Amino acid sequence: MQTQINQTTLDLIQGDITQQETDAIVNAANSSLLGGGGVDGAIHRAAGPGLLAECSQLGGCRAGDAKITKGYNLKAKYVIHGVGPVYNSKDPNIPKLLASVYQRNLEIATEHQLESIAFPAISTGVYGYPMQEAAEISLKTVIDFLQQNTQIKLVRFVLFTAEALNVFEDTLARLI
Ligand code: ADP
Repeated sequence: MQTQINQTTLDLIQGDITQQETDAIVNAANSSLLGGGGVDGAIHRAAGPGLLAECSQLGGCRAGDAKITKGYNLKAKYVIHGVGPVYNSKDPNIPKLLASVYQRNLEIATEHQLESIAFPAISTGVYGYPMQEAAEISLKTVIDFLQQNTQIKLVRFVLFTAEALNVFEDTLARLI
């Protein structure tokens, strides 16, 4: 599913984020930035050891924030490592942290004058965020950002399963 938000195409697909040819791919990192399972493990495997070497110089990253590195053996030139929150339904700060990590990724992409960026569904794996709630927050934050001025021409969500893609598509259809 594709839609246009001002000058930017917002694209939802099912796939593997490590295969994307966008200027940057976003990693669902943990705060150590030293690798992990899920998307993080897949990105480090595909990028090769140079990525971990650069990440180990960054001093970690707080939840809600993001840091950029080169893409090494990936097709993408950059990886932006975004640290999502661990889900906790009782903590009112958690949705703000999830919104913040998307916002920071887009700000960093803007600072580096990138034209395309691909996101996974941050926090919806090991970090336990329910897909529906995560889709709402993620899509709203991206749409709000794209309604401001941006040079970014393509924002793609790469959902790992058909089910996740369905949830994102239904949510996007309601939001636009
Ligand atoms: P987190 O720790 O932020 O929850 P995970 O990597 O565990 O991050 O999962 C985030 C989401 O990414 C999950 O929905 C998971 O199914 C999905 N995912 C796992 N591997 C890939 C991949 N190679 N490409 C895109 N999405 C992926």
